[in-house]
Parts: sequence; C-alpha cells; structure tokens
Amino acid sequence: MINMYQERVLSGMRPTGGLHLGHYHGVLKNWVELQHEFECLFFVADWHALTTHYDTPEVIEKNVWDMVIDWLAAGVDPANATLFIQSRVPEHAELHLLLSMMTPLGWLERVPTYKDQQEKLSEKDLSTYGFLGYPLLQSADILIYRANKVPVGEDQVPHIEFTREIARRFNHLYGREPGFEERAEAAVKKLGSKRAKLYEELRKRYQEQGDDEALEAAHALLNEQQNLSLGDRERLFGYLEGGGKMILVEPDALLTAASRMPGLDGLKMSKSYNNTITLREDADSVTRKIRTMPTDPARVRRTDPGDPAKCPVWSFHLVYSNTATQEWVQLGCKSAGIGCLECKQPVIEAVLREQEPMRERAQMYQDDPTLVRNIIADGCEKARKLANETMRDVREAMGLSYS
Ligand code: ATP
Ligand code: MG
Repeated sequence: MINMYQERVLSGMRPTGGLHLGHYHGVLKNWVELQHEFECLFFVADWHALTTHYDTPEVIEKNVWDMVIDWLAAGVDPANATLFIQSRVPEHAELHLLLSMMTPLGWLERVPTYKDQQEKLSEKDLSTYGFLGYPLLQSADILIYRANKVPVGEDQVPHIEFTREIARRFNHLYGREPGFEERAEAAVKKLGSKRAKLYEELRKRYQEQGDDEALEAAHALLNEQQNLSLGDRERLFGYLEGGGKMILVEPDALLTAASRMPGLDGLKMSKSYNNTITLREDADSVTRKIRTMPTDPARVRRTDPGDPAKCPVWSFHLVYSNTATQEWVQLGCKSAGIGCLECKQPVIEAVLREQEPMRERAQMYQDDPTLVRNIIADGCEKARKLANETMRDVREAMGLSYS
C-alpha cells in the first residue's frame, strides 16, 4: 500500500523551571536529531504548566522564553523545526473540549501519573478538573497535528498509550467507511478546475483496474496538485485509500537510551527533587555539585572497595563515558584503586564540554530577545494552519460544520 502520510514529530515541555540534563539526554537530544529526518513541531506546554502551577503563574511567565533559549542552545534549529507556544494555538483547547465529550472518566483516573504526581507534589492541591485532564490535553496536542512520533521521557509513555486509545475511540465513533465513489467525489471536490477530469479518471481506473491501480493513479494525480497543501493531499489520499475511518492518527513514543536520567542523588533527575544540573549552569556550580555527589555508601574510606552499581556517579559514566573509561571505573572502584573524586573528574569534564557550545549558542539569543520572539511568532502561525486542517475534519465528523 502506498504511504502518503508524512512522518510528523511533535513534542512539548512545560515551562516550570530551567531545563536540566535529564531533559537534555531524555528528550532534547532526540529533538535535535529528529529535526533533520522528519517534519518536527516543538512547543512550550504553558497550559500543562498551569495544571500544577495554577497558583504561581509568574513561574511560567518567567520560564517560557528561557526554555526556548535552552532549546536553541541545545541545537534545535528554527529552520528545521516549528517552535510554538501551546496557548497561542487555541485550537488545542477546542480539541481537548471535544475529546472530553467521549473520554471515559475511568480512563483518566487510571493513568498512573495522576495518582503518582498527586503524591509526589503533595504540597499542592491537585484534585482539580484541569489536572485530571492533563493526559487528554496532551492527546489533543498530539492528535491535532496527526503526529505519529512523540519523543518523550519514560514517565510519559502511559500518556502516549492513552492518546492511542483516544484516537481509536474517536475514529470508531466518528469515522465512517464511505464507498469508493463517495470517497473519490469528496476528494476531487477540493481540486478546483481539475476536479471533473480527475474524478472521471479515477472512476475509469477504478472500474477498469480495481482498487490498487486506481489508488496509484490517485496518488500520482494528487501529488501534482501543487495548489493543495501537503496535509490536504494526505487527507484526500487517506480518504481514497478507504482511510475514512482514520480521522485521527495513533502516535508512537520515541525514547532515548537515557529515557529516565538519574539526578545527583540517583533518583530520577527532576526539579522537584532538587537533584538537577541545569543546561547552562555555570562551570563552578557544576564542578561543586558533582564533587559533592554521594557515592556508594559502603565506601567510607578511600581504601574501601566500592560497587558502581550502587553509585549515582556510575549512572553519569553510563551517559558520559566511553568503554575504556567505564572499564577504568569498574576496575578502580571495585579494587579501591581509584578514589571517588578521581572517578568523578572525567564526568565533570564531559558535562562541561557538553555545555560549552550551549552557553555560546544561547548568548546571541540572550543579547537579542526579539530573535526568539520572531521565531515563536512564525512557529505559532505555522502550527495554527496545521491545527486547523485537522479541526475542519473533527468539527465535520462531530456534526459541527454547519455549512
Ligand atoms: P521535572 O521532572 O524536572 O519537574 P517535568 O517532568 O516537569 O520536569 P516536563 O515538561 O513534564 O518536565 O517534561 C519534559 C520532558 O522531559 C518529558 O518528556 C519528560 O519525560 C522528560 N524528562 C523529564 N525529566 C527527565 C529525566 N530525568 N530523564 C529523562 N527524561 C526526562
Ligand atoms: Mg513531567
């Protein structure tokens, strides 16, 4: 079967504080690679930030632009990816509302992060409507772009699974399987002056040669319609293919090797655990934090042998060191041949080396904030156009097009 659906990547982050190395190795590094391979959309999830920070909106306001600078510093290239802010594309909220009509409450209550986060952030009252709806808003973010790839950290995987279920339920409820003639007619209606000719052509092929040949012809013809956006061409083709049932697309999560990067204390690196190194943290602070990191508690004296498996520094070596260094650590630690400070030195150097180009790249954007404002303004406009392509179909499917 011909696949005209272009691979599209979507991912977001909440502007709730400076980004840390967990964000970088868990997600951001993946963004930087994916932008060369696929159409990519990356957004500031400011509404998602409000679900936990509704009483401190100033935190969000302060972090939005800094976070975009972090992305740019990490190597996200606005020429290769669309960067935007969630709340500037209000169609996300419209889709969230429409999806909420058909979302069983039990599905939301069962998402593991719901209870986990309530416990973890127990100082906040998260028994709110908005917080319960967190994963559904995320589904709307993804589905509105018909994105099929979502780079996230491990904790987000249940949300992507939830999104797949929502898409399936939506398509089941509102998608229909029209006959070929009906499909062809609906498709060519969009094609302006060429429509009559195209319709006849498709019908002829269909009658003469059957489905596959007709689809080949349709594929070629749609590809020539330069006046149609790629999204429109994909939709039309999906329609012809009998994809009438597929209004929304089920996405997959994309994970990195460090999809759950540990922090300075060995727990998952997270702002709320106070165990982070931020992306552009100054060199002295990075050095001090790593030098004072806890190590295997059994290694009290320099002469006591240790076990890397019980040491948070080892998990940094797994991310930052080559095999030779890793072997040096294993041998040296287990035989007490090297001290903990010695063992930490290559990690300190690797982190600083990684951060240097980021600090440099960030400088230009810090010096001229209008650069960042313009990148985002462009991105919001592009994202909105794409979002509206899906919303047209969703509104129609739910009986809201009233034309
Ligand atoms: P924090 O945990 O520091 O509060 P956050 O989880 O609030 O950060 P989000 O915007 O929810 O930040 O997460 C952005 C992305 O970064 C998500 O895909 C999340 O899975 C990923 N992520 C966050 N922390 C880590 C980590 N330590 N290792 C790998 N990925 C991570
Ligand atoms: Mg999170």
